[in-house]
This record gives sequence, structure tokens and C-alpha cells, in this order.
Amino acid sequence: MSNREAHPSELLFVAVAPAGPVHEVVEGRDVPISRTNLVNRTLPHRDRRMVGAWCFVDTYGPDAVVTMPGMRVPPHPHLGLQTVSWLLAGTIEHRDSLGSLQLVAPGELNLMTAGRGISHSEESPRDRPPQLHGVQLWIALPEHARAADPRFEHVTDLPRFELDDVRATVMVGTLAGRTSPAQVHSPLVGADLEVRGRGSVPLQPAFEHAVVVTSGSVVVDGERLTPGRMLYLGSGRHALDLASADGGRCLLLGGEPFEEEIVMWWNFVARTHHEIVAAREQWMAGLDGGSVFGRVEGFDGASLPAPELPNAPLRPRGRVR
Ligand code: MN
Repeated sequence: MSNREAHPSELLFVAVAPAGPVHEVVEGRDVPISRTNLVNRTLPHRDRRMVGAWCFVDTYGPDAVVTMPGMRVPPHPHLGLQTVSWLLAGTIEHRDSLGSLQLVAPGELNLMTAGRGISHSEESPRDRPPQLHGVQLWIALPEHARAADPRFEHVTDLPRFELDDVRATVMVGTLAGRTSPAQVHSPLVGADLEVRGRGSVPLQPAFEHAVVVTSGSVVVDGERLTPGRMLYLGSGRHALDLASADGGRCLLLGGEPFEEEIVMWWNFVARTHHEIVAAREQWMAGLDGGSVFGRVEGFDGASLPAPELPNAPLRPRGRVR
């Protein structure tokens, strides 16, 4: 709020963001997350920062992980967000500062609510299937929930149903009247859709939506989508037609437009530059535990240090650029 007058044009753009159906292809980009792990990131993007409360979308694989090291992400902190870990193939071992130790496999949801602070590690277990293929998604927590206690959920009894030739699994939120038992804090949907033929999925018109293909190809709103691209659909739609002749799989992500301006840096979602600086200092001061982010027990290796902050102050931003 303090820097509103410094960037009037950006705020005007946020204010006039169109309400209604949109057809906008967002090209993902390859991003290394460690020396051996490459992901494709479609959110945040310079043209689109959020879809509902969804603020981060990484897809990875399928990667051969028999002889390669597989995934290895040392302990690192999160603040003000939820992480969704969802696999199409393989397994990942999750540890966090609450003491959780959980293997996640395809069809199961790992949902971690950072709230006011948590740390975790994710790695391929020693005994593992030959391939790893999955997604990592973040959900920004609204003001009323962002200082909540940290929490970890492993959910296996997710709603699964068929809509014509589409097999849907609701990871979080609500789709077609079916609601995931996983705890979220704003109206949203995150669903995995396996398409073999044609089908139509009902949408909530108050939500904005996007589709990200994770394997094969799917025709959505007349656009043939393959992995690495997101189709942003705007709001005001009552249904979405999907088709795939050879079979394809995608994520449907949506939610009520997130009207709060956020500051997103590294693994933190906050509201001000000062909050980010304080979180970074806390993590660096307590790398071996003792900070609000706690300590991950049982990971064989050092925690991740935070990167340097940019020279210019971080500015709160809305859901579009
Ligand atoms: Mn993480």
C-alpha cells in the first residue's frame, strides 16, 4: 500500500483486468532447481502472476531416475503459502519441521500449509520406480490464513469420477460438486483430468481458470495443448470442453480472483518487502533450527541457504503484471 503512487500505471492495469472469458497461451520456461533437476515453470509468468490463489506451477519429467540422482531438494523454508505435490509416476519422500516423514505416490496428495513458517525437504527415496514425473504447485494464503499454524496433510481418499471420456480427480477445492477433503483457505479448484475421447467439465463462472497439460496432448477451447504451455481461460465460463484422440492428461486450476497484492520472493509469499527481509534473516540465522521455520530431522545433508535479495526493494503486485 505504501508504494501505490510510485506505479500508477500498473495499478490501473490491475483495476481494469477484464472479467470474462479469455484465451491466452502462456509459454512455460525451463528453470534449473538444482544441479540435476530441471522444471518447466508456467506460473508466475511476466504476463500472468496468478490464477485464483494459484501462484506457482512447475511440471517436471518424465525423467529416468534409476541411475541418475533423481530429485534432491535439501531443507528450505516456506511462508504464507500451501504446496501441492502431485505425481504422475514415481515416488518422492517428504520430511518437514513438524516431524512428518511421508512418501507420496501417483494419485496421492501431499499438501503442506506453511502458514507462518515451515521447512521441508523432498528427495527420491533410495528404492524407487524407474521414472519420476510430477508437478509442484503453490497456493497463496489469503490474509486471514497466512499466519496460521503450519500443517501437513497426506490425502488418499480424493474424489474421483468420470464426465464422459474425462476421468477427474479433485486434488483440492471443488469440481462438479465434489470437494476434496484437503484443507484450503479460499474458493478454488485443482483437478487432474485424464482425457481419452471427449468430455465436458462444469466450471464455476466466478472462478478464473487455466489448463496445464502434463502428458500427451489435449484440445482445450480449440487449442491443442502439449506439456510446457498453460492456457489461461479467464472467468465467466460455465463449462470446458476437452478432447484428446490419443489420450492426454492435464491439470485444471482455478479459483476466485485473488484480489490481495502479494510479494513473492524465493519460497516466501508475503505482503511487504520488510516481511521478506525478516523471513530471510530468520531462515539464515536459524539454518540448523531454532527459527520460526524449525528443523527438518533425518535429511542427509545441509539446508539450502537463501539467495541474496535484489538491490531494489520488492514491490507488492497484483495477479496480473
Ligand atoms: Mn518446497
